[in-house]
Amino acid sequence: MEAQRLRDVSTSLIRKMFEIVERARKEGKDIVSLTIGEPDFATPNEVVERAIKAINSGYTHYTSNLGIEELRTVIAERYGVSKDNVMITAGGSEALLNASLAFIEESSKVVIPSPSFLSYFTYAKICKAKITEMKTHDSAFVPDVDLFSEWMSRDVSVVFLNYPNNPTGAVIDERSARAIAEIAMDYNTVIISDEIYDKIYYDRKPTTLADYENVVVVNGFSKSLAMTGWRIGYVVAREDLLNSMLKIHQVNGVCAPAFAQKAVAEVMLNGEFEKIVSRMVLEFRKRRDYIYGELSKLYSTIKPEGAFYMFLNVQENCLEFAEKLIDYGVAVTPGIAFGSGNERFIRISYANSMENLKKAVERIKNFYDSKTT
Ligand code: PLP
Repeated sequence: MEAQRLRDVSTSLIRKMFEIVERARKEGKDIVSLTIGEPDFATPNEVVERAIKAINSGYTHYTSNLGIEELRTVIAERYGVSKDNVMITAGGSEALLNASLAFIEESSKVVIPSPSFLSYFTYAKICKAKITEMKTHDSAFVPDVDLFSEWMSRDVSVVFLNYPNNPTGAVIDERSARAIAEIAMDYNTVIISDEIYDKIYYDRKPTTLADYENVVVVNGFSKSLAMTGWRIGYVVAREDLLNSMLKIHQVNGVCAPAFAQKAVAEVMLNGEFEKIVSRMVLEFRKRRDYIYGELSKLYSTIKPEGAFYMFLNVQENCLEFAEKLIDYGVAVTPGIAFGSGNERFIRISYANSMENLKKAVERIKNFYDSKTT
């Protein structure tokens, strides 16, 4: 029954981890889950109140496929482009699927750095492309420009980039990011630059690649406004690329929720957006400093510069490690969820309360000590 294109798409790993945690909880175990890929904060009141007002004033129907003009315009201003370069989508994920279906040619190559967000592999598989994984373990989890240049060829239709990065927290330096965009341009290759964590950074400011003709920027408010359930994302791209994505979006997301578009537009227009983000980042920074300070004494890792993840080399099979750690009361995501070469890594998400993080650190230390003594 299932179509060929789904042959290699699997949901089993995430389901397996979920089932293991649920089973342990049912047995009465207290588990701190460091697997969560979303801010633990409630959606800010500023957004919620505006959304309720918008619902009451009739923002409950379709909007234009491209999104409400107010929101497109305020986003466009921030990138220094026209609103005709902006389309609002039902979350970043819809934007990624639209871009994949619009630009990945069947049987072409798609370059995905490893480790990467799992969905990129799924999009490439759905589009029946050949996946080329570019390992980044020896270059602090960002692509090495010379190596990238060697990987590139005429049959690469799309390259995925994601900085700040899920699952490592790495941020690429501006020079390398721009060099990669330029090399890709020489091959007429589209870069899908997933910048969804661009507001969550602790050291250097991430670079946007929105000013390149061959780059589709994917972004959204799931992470920056802690509103993953509201489904507001967007793309910024050259007008003809945007029109190609519109061909998919018009039958896929159709439009993002109207009241949520209105609420986000108002929060951006009145300057509350930046205040909300800095409040959240201040809290994430404390957690990053704490968790990095503690866990880097046990396992090798890079200091995360953005997002809310840390990728640890645990020097053993990641699935076995994750299963055993459950017995100590902590759930983490095994590295194999993020591509090949990650068999000995695990991802932790520090989007969790300081209290839970302290509990998790104590438990991980106990687990670590049980092996070394
Ligand atoms: N891109 C990356 C790198 C992510 O980590 C996520 C969510 O975890 C998304 C995109 C999807 O975001 P959205 O909830 O806006 O679909």
